[in-house]
Amino acid sequence: MWPYYPELLTGNVPRYTSYPTAVEFHDGVGGPEFLKALDDISSDDPISLYVHIPYCQQICWYCGCNTGAASKTQRLTSYLEALETEIALIASSLRGRGKVRNIAFGGGSPNAIAPVDFVRLIDRIFTTFSCDSPNISVELDPRIFTEEWAATLAHCRVSRVSLGVQSFSKDIQRAIGRIQPLGMISDCLKQLRDVGIDAVNFDLMYGLPSQSSDDLSETLVTAVELQPSRIALFGYAHMPQLFPRQKRIDDSNLPGSAERFAMADLGYRQLTAAGYMAIGFDHFALPNDSLSRAVAQGTLHRNFQGYTNDNCPTMIGLGASAISNFPDFIIQNEKHPGAYRTLALAHNFTVSRGIRRSADDKLRGALIESLLCAGTSGAIPEHILDTARSRLTAFIKRGLARIEFESIVIQPDGLPYSRAIASSLDRHRVSGGKQFSLAI
Ligand code: SF4
Repeated sequence: MWPYYPELLTGNVPRYTSYPTAVEFHDGVGGPEFLKALDDISSDDPISLYVHIPYCQQICWYCGCNTGAASKTQRLTSYLEALETEIALIASSLRGRGKVRNIAFGGGSPNAIAPVDFVRLIDRIFTTFSCDSPNISVELDPRIFTEEWAATLAHCRVSRVSLGVQSFSKDIQRAIGRIQPLGMISDCLKQLRDVGIDAVNFDLMYGLPSQSSDDLSETLVTAVELQPSRIALFGYAHMPQLFPRQKRIDDSNLPGSAERFAMADLGYRQLTAAGYMAIGFDHFALPNDSLSRAVAQGTLHRNFQGYTNDNCPTMIGLGASAISNFPDFIIQNEKHPGAYRTLALAHNFTVSRGIRRSADDKLRGALIESLLCAGTSGAIPEHILDTARSRLTAFIKRGLARIEFESIVIQPDGLPYSRAIASSLDRHRVSGGKQFSLAI
């Protein structure tokens, strides 16, 4: 088992899906910077698109995503109209520059919209952007998955889907407000495989109310039997001050830090023993999955969706709260779907805040990404290493990290401390802030 040092896991630490993190965004970066970033894209630059659907048919109590109930048809229709307007506006600014290599639909639940609307969105993207046989991935809510959706995804040549599973335990499903029997997940999987979609991710969680290590172990056994190509195992982040819907969760029986640590350890041991390869600190993939190949080839990346083999330097976010990532800027769209709709339908860019990446940000961002993807930062300039060294003393003393040829190297026992070790390179973080989740 990994050695447990609670004193090294006390703070709240970013997940580093970007650097600087979203907490550093400010409203001094907006439309002009977005336009400049689009202007900087040249004809053959590979780009990725992220499309956000901020609606779900049923809201889960634990959810920390920017999403709301898809109960009003008019609201959905108007959102999709705004999204199409934004797609057209950005595509016309690019005038064919940039080749779309990846399109990811996330949310919320992209399958909260009608299949016909999904086809229409795909069609809009393909007819307005210059697409280069993009990989298309979609997050799905199994509770509202249908055969029609399976056929639609196949028709649109979707190659990868993510299913929100979290736990197979009925009691835990009740405690988090998300009831989905095993048969529902296995039917969904069968329908996807029947139409040729084999690349399926499961999202699972530990640290859920009343969850024990035995519960987690049973869920992992069932998950492995179903053989998804990837499993992401996240620690539940209970932050009701930020996500009021989490107030419905009984926090009197949330596992404590030691139990969460033991569950993360159990997940790692059980999934790697079952043939999955550990990808970074919270993903697992079958050996033939593209993430495992990316690890072997040293091409694993980390972006707003977590670990990825997407290597495009530019990602354009479409939809409310979506984040665009450019070499010099990170820019987020208006978060509130109502305000987003108003801006988009008036044919304005919908961006509201962001950050210009300084040379120092780019350097630290690359070091952090390398540390979290490859376990080693690569050579760190002396002025950054000096500070990092003193912040890492406790980790180095306990054999969790070492400094070797001016690089930070995470040791095997240091894997669960990865985010805390990476924060030694973060100039914005002296100690953890409340906006982030627990380090384990
Ligand atoms: S389906 Fe996913 S995005 Fe929607 S409320 Fe549940 S966890 Fe959140």
